[in-house]
Amino acid sequence: MRVTCTDSSDSSDPAESARSDESSDASDKCDKSIECKSLMNFAEPDAPGAAQQRLVTKWEERIAVTSAVKDLAQTLKHAKYTVVLTGAGVSTESGIPDFRSSRGLWRNMDAVRLLSLETLYYQPEVFYTKGLELLGTMRGKKPNAAHKTLAWLEQRTLVDTVITQNIDGLHNESGSNRVLEIHGNLRTSSCRDCRRETPFEFLADAVKEGIVPPKCRCGGIVRPNVVFFGDPMPPCFDEAVQVAQKADFMLVVGSSLQVAPVAHLPSLAKQLAIINLEPTPYDSEASIVIHDRAGTVLTRLLEYIKAQDNTGISMG
Ligand SMILES: [Zn+2]
Repeated sequence: MRVTCTDSSDSSDPAESARSDESSDASDKCDKSIECKSLMNFAEPDAPGAAQQRLVTKWEERIAVTSAVKDLAQTLKHAKYTVVLTGAGVSTESGIPDFRSSRGLWRNMDAVRLLSLETLYYQPEVFYTKGLELLGTMRGKKPNAAHKTLAWLEQRTLVDTVITQNIDGLHNESGSNRVLEIHGNLRTSSCRDCRRETPFEFLADAVKEGIVPPKCRCGGIVRPNVVFFGDPMPPCFDEAVQVAQKADFMLVVGSSLQVAPVAHLPSLAKQLAIINLEPTPYDSEASIVIHDRAGTVLTRLLEYIKAQDNTGISMG
């Protein structure tokens, strides 16, 4: 059965508590609600039946999400090997904006150009000041409900591997053990020539001392262990391809599936489910599609599976 849902957010829902206060989307929402309230005082009354229609739509959406979450729980239980592919939509709920998105924190800054090989090699002063500062803002964040639920699902052996496009390390921090960080991480840096690894902090320390670009003992340039625009994919991407081929179920969470070559991974799995705020190019190929926040949906999934445990009712 194919289930397609839309954003069902509602302030009365307990799952709302899972949302991070730090989320930039959340603050956008607050501003809008203030604006709406002030406008409502002067608005024309609703057309007859409009309130009734809104109520019906709200409940139809809520029922559809519940149904999709049940399907998701059953599919996870029956799958032999499940891979979860996560993208920026998971990190935004920890207050880390998606710099590829026009709605991101750096919408006025060309982050794509800043975090590129071209800038790293030809404008090292710009890269190691502005670029490093940009990367630094993604550090020190805390895992959210989506990260925690995925770690819990791994403990329950309902998830086998997490492939992530995110570089913030929050899957590891929340307790997921089997994580493939295919765009790198912000824990380490490495020498371009001899590949010797050093902690990420080495870079900031070098810049503070006026050493730009930072150099290794061998004389090679030391750079963040992050896959930038123009970089080849790291060896763990081959592993990601292998687990995607092995998977009989792939759950995509918070990825718009727009960035190659990661966007090709879902086509390798036998069955696909997608949780993302916006539609993706793979929606028509997925058996379950939920257009909602990652934390909201995964919290509902966790609550549903726990409820099945407590009542002893089989998930089917
Ligand atoms: Zn070196």
